[in-house]
Amino acid sequence: MIPLFEQYPRLSEKLPYIRLGEFPTPLHKLARMGREIGVGNLYIKRDDLSGGIYGGNKVRKLEFIFGNALRKNAKTVMTFGVAGSNHVLATAIYAKETGLKCISMLLPQHNARYVRRNLLKSQLCGAELHYYKNTFALKAAAVCRFLLDGIMTGRFPMIIPPGGSSPLGITGYVNAAFELKRQIAEGTSPEPDYIYVALGTMGTAVGLMLGLRAAGLKSRVIPVRVVDEGFANVGLMRKMFRDANELLHSSDGSFPLVELSKHEVSIRHDFIGRGYAVFTKEGMKAVGRLRDTEGISLEGTYTGKAFGALIRDADEQKLKDKTALFWNTYNSRDFSGDIINSDYHMLPRRLHGYFEDDVQPLDGNSSRLAD
Ligand SMILES: *Cc1c(COP(=O)(O)O)cnc(C)c1O
Repeated sequence: MIPLFEQYPRLSEKLPYIRLGEFPTPLHKLARMGREIGVGNLYIKRDDLSGGIYGGNKVRKLEFIFGNALRKNAKTVMTFGVAGSNHVLATAIYAKETGLKCISMLLPQHNARYVRRNLLKSQLCGAELHYYKNTFALKAAAVCRFLLDGIMTGRFPMIIPPGGSSPLGITGYVNAAFELKRQIAEGTSPEPDYIYVALGTMGTAVGLMLGLRAAGLKSRVIPVRVVDEGFANVGLMRKMFRDANELLHSSDGSFPLVELSKHEVSIRHDFIGRGYAVFTKEGMKAVGRLRDTEGISLEGTYTGKAFGALIRDADEQKLKDKTALFWNTYNSRDFSGDIINSDYHMLPRRLHGYFEDDVQPLDGNSSRLAD
């Protein structure tokens, strides 16, 4: 049984859940890296290994979201993201596993090699991909596609919000905090002073903060913003925290209702660089250092920027006698072999530019898909 349900058995009766991933994810020390940058105790939570076929932070959210889709007897899910969205890919992969059809509505983003990989893999999983140049066109098309699917199948698609960050999706990360608590109790690591995590649609950070509070852990989450401030800010974060908390409290009255005050939120704004999915020198340097010291792969859109924040804090001597935990949210299961024979010409015409145009300079100049 998952740690959250063990603590709150009534939640297991009320909340939908299906197992998709492999938990608990490993938690271990990064001794070499910690020594090199001067962190007293540096640990990593390996959510990159959260799934046997595809890991990363979306798996925990989808376990609740797909649980709900099955309970509601949905036949199709519809979700949203940018062209290379890891969430959109995770949804396509686990929809296929679950026997659901997946419709993905995509928007433009800066080009990178992972965008190509994610598009090809989504296509291979049988997801229906639609691409629009702006949110206005995308929303109009989504409404039409939603209605059409409903009429054709007799059942409207279940909508999954960007990043899977609905109250149910967030519950996956509330559970993750209870999982961490269990690992600490088993002696796997000391209780972290700080937990560094990338901040996108905020579900991961919000779930962790709520879960830590409910689990009675004192670790402080350091969310490192990698999207525009309009999408990730204190006001929205507090609203999502409240909504997720209300879902859990109304499902089991013994789950505490807690207040997240403004002062408890310390979003780091200095690492996004020129924008979402625009790699930064500092972020790519952090990626290189973790690869060289520990053999663990991060990337430039989320985890490189978040780990860059940890390194900068270490450089400023803020972590000298602290326990810092880096929460790795990026999938590390290699699926490049699956798409080796894929042809991008099978994708909708308007997505071909991602394969024909250059990737951004900081993504390296290798043309190999797998790097
Ligand atoms: C989606 C994603 C995030 C951000 O998680 P949110 O819950 O959307 O804030 C972080 N890292 C990676 C690799 C992701 O794909």
